[in-house]
Amino acid sequence: MTHASKQGTLNIGRSIARGGAIVLCLVIAGCVHNHHARVHDESSFTQTTRNLHHYARICMGSRCTIVIEAESEPAAARAAASAFDEIACIEQALSDYRADSESMRLMRGSVDTWHTVSETLFEVLEQSMDIHNRTNGAFDPTLGAVTHLWRESSMPSGEELTRALDRVGFSKLHLDQGTRSVMFDRNGMILDFGGIGKGYAAQRALDLLRSQGYTIASVDMGGDLALGDPPSNHPDGWRVEIITGLGTNRSVSLANCAIATSGDLERFYEYEGVRYSHIIDPRTGYGIRERRAVTVIAPDASIADAIASAVSVLGEDGIEHVRAAYPDVSIELVTRSIEGD
Ligand code: AMP
Ligand code: MG
Repeated sequence: MTHASKQGTLNIGRSIARGGAIVLCLVIAGCVHNHHARVHDESSFTQTTRNLHHYARICMGSRCTIVIEAESEPAAARAAASAFDEIACIEQALSDYRADSESMRLMRGSVDTWHTVSETLFEVLEQSMDIHNRTNGAFDPTLGAVTHLWRESSMPSGEELTRALDRVGFSKLHLDQGTRSVMFDRNGMILDFGGIGKGYAAQRALDLLRSQGYTIASVDMGGDLALGDPPSNHPDGWRVEIITGLGTNRSVSLANCAIATSGDLERFYEYEGVRYSHIIDPRTGYGIRERRAVTVIAPDASIADAIASAVSVLGEDGIEHVRAAYPDVSIELVTRSIEGD
């Protein structure tokens, strides 16, 4: 279980709900834990160390932890509950694991028709399109038809991938800001916000806490962290331990920013000895085969989340382009070529 180790520090694991394996990439640390555990069954917990109140729930298939510094625990608990409610609304808008989410219902609608959508869905689509353009298309949440194919089949055929790729691409999806509407050109398109949704939710939850006066707070969506002002007894910031799994563990103190990691360390498919990351190259429809671990520190958690996914696709070749597009973002990439190739 995530737990307080000493005031101002806590251990946070990155976990995923599927694929059988999880990897810890970020730990706000007093000590390091490798969370090789599945998402726990308990739906919530509360823990207090002096004035730092810790709350956790399962959200978006991950363990989400909120920490708030406050004099009053009941008031902090109410604020945390409102933040969890916000995250639940975001999940209902964006999830591609729920057939009844707004995004899944939208994409079952008619082609060539404008559909009005919620502010949340529209904002994430606009942000996604912008990141897509600035990353040369590496970040692409329109590739749901492909990610769902990989979820369903151990090794899709080339023909299946070609058919799925025909239902991918921002050129087939149109946004109208004036009417907050979306139109798409192909039946069977699916939006997969797996590369941005948790960061977006972490940022929105932190912003909500700030608007309620809780400026000393952090939100961790299972590895995508949004950090507010530093805890009183840690003026340098929240201590975050970065565990890439590729031999470059380190810890940093951060405040008023976001950090995210991305990589295939344990989230991958394996077929006939070849390992494919869960992160897909939108140009080919195949998972990335080079092992990459990306750590991104950015002013905003959705940007951090999405850039981490994009750089996982681009690797060394594309990193300078992304750095130039996002000068206020710090990006670190560790690469290991795949053995046995
Ligand atoms: P992350 O863990 O943030 O790197 O996001 C990985 C998830 O994003 C995957 O499990 C897919 O749901 C989705 N995804 C995979 N490839 C891409 C891509 N090229 N662009 C955007 N999202 C992707
Ligand atoms: Mg990401």
